[in-house]
Parts: sequence; C-alpha cells; structure tokens
Amino acid sequence: MISAELLNVLEEGLSRKQGVKIAINQVQPVRGGDINLAYRLSGNGRDYFLKLNSGVRIADLFEKEAFGLELLARSSPLRVPTPLLSGSFGPTFFLVMEWISKGEVTRNFWEVFARGLVRLHRNTQAEFGLDQDNFIGSLPQSNKPCRGWPEFFWSRRLEPLLRMAVDLGRLAKKYGRNSQKPCDYLGDLIPAEPPALLHGDLWAGNFICDERGNPCFYDPAVYFGHREMDLAMTLLFGGFHRSFYLHYQEVHPLEPGWEKRLECFQLYPLLVHAVLFGGSYPRRVEEILDRWKVF
Ligand code: ADP
Repeated sequence: MISAELLNVLEEGLSRKQGVKIAINQVQPVRGGDINLAYRLSGNGRDYFLKLNSGVRIADLFEKEAFGLELLARSSPLRVPTPLLSGSFGPTFFLVMEWISKGEVTRNFWEVFARGLVRLHRNTQAEFGLDQDNFIGSLPQSNKPCRGWPEFFWSRRLEPLLRMAVDLGRLAKKYGRNSQKPCDYLGDLIPAEPPALLHGDLWAGNFICDERGNPCFYDPAVYFGHREMDLAMTLLFGGFHRSFYLHYQEVHPLEPGWEKRLECFQLYPLLVHAVLFGGSYPRRVEEILDRWKVF
C-alpha cells in the first residue's frame, strides 16, 4: 500500500491543480501492468489512476508518458486518459491520470478505433523520429530524427536493442555484429511511406473500452514512424478483432504484402521483451533474424 505521506503529497498536488480540496478516501491496487505499480484512488466522488515507480535510472519516465498522452490527445479523436499530476516523493515517481471506467464493446467499437488510428497516422512531419527521446516499457527509446525509415528503424530501434540483448547474454554474439546489411535489407523489403505519428506500443494490453463503449488507449511510446509498426504491434499477442483491420484498410490501405512484413516490424517489440523478460523471446528474435540471413 502507499504511505500516508505520499498520499498527502498527491492530495495536495491534485487539490492545487483542480482548485478544490481533494481528500482521497480509498486506494485499491490495480493489476495488469508489467512495469509499474498501479492504483485506483477515489476521492470527492471522482476516481483517479495512479502509477508508481521507484527506478532512479528512469526519473523522467512518467513525464514522457504524460507528454505522449497529451500529444495523442491533440492528434486524433481517440480517447486517452488525461494526465493530471506527475512528480516524485523521495525515491518514488508518480503519475496520476483520469480514471477510465470499463464498458461493453459496442457494434462500431472496432470501426471507431480503426478510423481514429488512421487519423493519428495521418499526422506527419519531414523526418522519422521526434524532438525528444522517450521510453518503451522501461527501456529508453532514441527518437533522433532520420530521413528514411530503414535507417531509423535499424539505427534507433533494432541495433541498440540487439547490442543490449547480446551484452545480457540473451542473444548469440553474432547478432551484435556491426553490419550495414540489415539496413539495406529493410530498404528493399519495406515500401517507403511518409512518417506517421504512432502510438508506439499498441498491443492489446494498452487499450480499454470505456463506459460509453469507445476505445481509449494509453501507455504510449510516441514518435513519427512507419505506420505498419503500430499495426504489427496490434498483431503481436493475438491481435485485435478482424474488423479493425478491414476498417483500417478501407480508409487508409496498406501497401500490398504488409502481412509478410509484419514479423520484421515485430522484431522491435520482441527485442524489447527479450531484453526485459528473457523467456522464449530471444529465441523468437533469433528465428526471425536467421530467416533474414544477414548476420
Ligand atoms: P504499465 O506501465 O505498468 O504497463 P499500464 O499503463 O499498462 O501499466 O496499466 C496497468 C493496467 O491498468 C492496464 O492493464 C489497465 O487495465 C489499467 N489502466 C491503465 N490506465 C488506466 C486508466 N487511466 N484508468 C483505468 N485503468 C487503467
């Protein structure tokens, strides 16, 4: 449970922000997150979602998460929880946001989700990347801009994690070798597209159906990337409902062959899992890399 002192800090912060005295009278743990501790706070007839983390290395994790949520909120009609308060108390970092109540999936849920994601992906800029770095899970993510997707995907996403996974002994040494070949391979494989604003970590655990039956997504790792990256992420663990992909394709068709390219994009989240959790993920990464025959 959280300490009375921390609760006090949260009450004062929320009261200041909202201009009314907030007294939190209930704290319930929320399960489901991989990285942080989560709680439901209740006070003054309103609920809040609280995340806590005590990792000194990742002091700005929650600031980046709040930035990502705000950017998503400005850039598409899809709902995101509004971040309300972030800060630290002793070694503990906190983020408080709007609580989203769960509802029943309505008939047009997947259409609303797909069309909303298309609107997000229509946001573009000249280069791949972002004006600031952020995190995916608890791993730092460099968003230093590149003109082309193959260069960005290789040098900012795959290569750093391959090195990390090799250093941790999760992958065989040969996958950490310096090589230009994967970048060339990606250039041949992936059709060029304009940079698209991405959620960046869009797996099935990062959205819920809200009380009105609409999708609400959260826990982003935003940047301008190739939109197949978000689609590949949705398909990593089971996938979204089939109609989501049909609606997405209807409004913003993907280049032919996208299903075949999926595993290439999935290499990134699989590497994240290989580094963070080990288990069967390193083997899956090696299988994909072996199919490339470039190491
Ligand atoms: P982590 O950063 O540790 O992965 P998440 O952001 O995924 O944590 O949140 C953990 C769980 O809390 C999610 O699976 C989801 O069910 C729930 N959740 C996340 N955000 C909210 C919110 N704003 N309101 C209500 N529940 C939420």
